[in-house]
Amino acid sequence: MVVVSACLVGENCKYSGGNNRNEAVLSYLEGKEYITICPECTGGLSTPREPAEIIGGEGKDVIDGNCKVISRVGVDVTKEYMKGARISLEEAKKYDAELAILKEGSPSCGVNKIHNGEFKGIKKVGKGVTAALFEMNGIRAISEKDLEQKRQK
Ligand code: SF4
Repeated sequence: MVVVSACLVGENCKYSGGNNRNEAVLSYLEGKEYITICPECTGGLSTPREPAEIIGGEGKDVIDGNCKVISRVGVDVTKEYMKGARISLEEAKKYDAELAILKEGSPSCGVNKIHNGEFKGIKKVGKGVTAALFEMNGIRAISEKDLEQKRQK
């Protein structure tokens, strides 16, 4: 079973109300069983919503309680991000998922990169909260960028 970020298969759950439909992901999933997750929605945030970034750290630091996720208008959404990550992990475990394909750059789903906390569109190396929790629990996560690169080879 594969877990996939819902926005990557076309669900309009992105903060803007749109999606991140990705052909490389859809093609990879053809003929495979998968479930979708959207940790931010599951955590109780509405769509559309204010974008948020991890301030002063990355996903594992949020999980460890050492930094927070703050929205662009200054609201602390750490609780919602943590709740969404925990429920997404429960779902993944329920279906014995071994692989997750998650949206690069997201403060929840980012696998290799996240925004740097300045709300300037600048990314840094790091994982989002859900991707970090998956990794801590032995679920391998790759991003749509990883699949796109694989397709180009
Ligand atoms: S990146 Fe993750 S949290 Fe954000 S909209 Fe997509 S599935 Fe939801």
